[in-house]
Amino acid sequence: MLQSLARGALDLFLPRHCAVSGRPLLDDDTGPVAAEVLRQADVAGADYCKRCGAPQGAGVGVIRECLSCQDVRDGFGTKEIVAVGRYAGVLEDMCLALKFGGERNVAKPLAAWLVPLLHERGVAARIDAVTPVPLSALRVLQRGYNQADLIARALKLEKPLVNVLRRTRPTDRQAMLSLAQRKANVDGAFMVRNAALVEGKVFLLVDDVMTTGATFAEAARTLKRAGAKAVYGAIAARAALGSDR
Ligand SMILES: [Zn+2]
Repeated sequence: MLQSLARGALDLFLPRHCAVSGRPLLDDDTGPVAAEVLRQADVAGADYCKRCGAPQGAGVGVIRECLSCQDVRDGFGTKEIVAVGRYAGVLEDMCLALKFGGERNVAKPLAAWLVPLLHERGVAARIDAVTPVPLSALRVLQRGYNQADLIARALKLEKPLVNVLRRTRPTDRQAMLSLAQRKANVDGAFMVRNAALVEGKVFLLVDDVMTTGATFAEAARTLKRAGAKAVYGAIAARAALGSDR
């Protein structure tokens, strides 16, 4: 609150700066990221993996499994995952600015890329509700927001946004853990707040970055155990295994 008040006060005197390149923003820049930076982003097109959302090389088309997800035997608890692109370059910088740089508005251009992909791939029409992967209460307190929730809100898909998931406990940072440890770390990490809002519904589960997908899968499976009919995923960036945040 104080931080955002201070930033608002600063904006009165100083020009706002691009969340990625740091150059002062001009009247032509519509969002928090400079136009020439947005143009450099590698956004997914017609070649992608349906299972994990990873973009594929030109001409590969739509595939059901890829090198990034073939080791995840049980999948992610989702029917399909839509990702803006790979966790690299401008997309990586934007995700970092959103998560660690306090740049809340970066959620908007990320969502603006997700929306057409969700429509083109028929996902937007199949879902009943949108829900973000929650953070622990402590993490929300430290950061002031949940970046997944900001992206989910910015989607504006004309479907209800419901925060139905809750963390049951804080989990260790996944980056330090092996694959097996990551799975154990997130086992039972979520619970459903209100089962009546979940039963029989098709959800779009939203997160910023997905790496092993252990957290994402646990959140999706928690929804399904509570009676969700199906879960689709929407993520800003798909990180390769071994480059966890
Ligand atoms: Zn894949």
